[in-house]
Amino acid sequence: MSLKGRVVPEPVDIGQLAAPPFVRLPDITTHFAARAARLDALAPGNPLEPFLRFVAEIARAQHTASSALPSGTLPGDDHVAFCKAHGFALIERLTWARDASFVAGARAIAAALKDAAMPEVATHALAVFAARDDQSIDALADRLLREEQEPWDMAEVPLVAAALELHWTRMASLLDPTAPTPLDPRNLCPVCGSTAIASVVEAAAGRQGSRFLCCGLCQTRWNYTRIQCAHCVSTKGIAYHHVEGGSKLVRAETCDECRTYTKALYLEEAPEADPIADDLATLPLDILVGDAGWQRARLNWYLMPQDEDAPEPLSAASS
Ligand SMILES: [Zn+2]
Ligand SMILES: [Zn+2]
Repeated sequence: MSLKGRVVPEPVDIGQLAAPPFVRLPDITTHFAARAARLDALAPGNPLEPFLRFVAEIARAQHTASSALPSGTLPGDDHVAFCKAHGFALIERLTWARDASFVAGARAIAAALKDAAMPEVATHALAVFAARDDQSIDALADRLLREEQEPWDMAEVPLVAAALELHWTRMASLLDPTAPTPLDPRNLCPVCGSTAIASVVEAAAGRQGSRFLCCGLCQTRWNYTRIQCAHCVSTKGIAYHHVEGGSKLVRAETCDECRTYTKALYLEEAPEADPIADDLATLPLDILVGDAGWQRARLNWYLMPQDEDAPEPLSAASS
């Protein structure tokens, strides 16, 4: 993709700070349907329109699958108390033992996608994915969670990612909202221990001006200092950039300490913005910020790795 333009720094305005709750857990009955609607709205005219429409189909499949999941294991009170006492994430992504409901969810997503329009490479990937045995699907999930860069069929990544999202989002949505407490470091998701895919600056009454980091796995949002690197937690050398002459809804928060950036969504510009959807729809910002010398802190699993313009991720350091 060739691009003209540049990113311009944004003056920092910390707005009207509120005293929000620490976490906002996802609502699985609406979460993926809302993402699909957002992708449908963002797709027309976007350079990645066919891809955004495909991810919208995945989100619709996640929504369909969410209402027919078998009841799986949930973290019990003893487990939650133990994690809180030791400062662990409640449903930690690498240590939580997924039960059979994970593969059931993966198969339900694949079934719901069967007649959806999608790029040819995705049609092939879906057929390969649907033919896998349970053990093989679990092995793919383990590799993605560990962010291993092994040579495997990257076209299946969005499908595995969708299944992992569904599994963790269901569990997160059923937690007691008062259960998650801040981890050390605070940039880790208190539910699953992931680093943030993006952040949002709230506009809603009661939360106006407050900032939440957004988990790309369990979809939990947790309160975080307004001007602080989401990757290395530095409070020095932070700046905000948007594409010159373009929308200020999505800005890149850059950190001069670790030379990474994470996108921030300003919901006063669009309350319906979604961290995954709006990230995918603003690839030009990635390219320009990358050209200016910052590296993306965390890869969006839905970014087609075959896209030569896709930004390179850093290793999944949970620092
Ligand atoms: Zn999480
Ligand atoms: Zn940093």
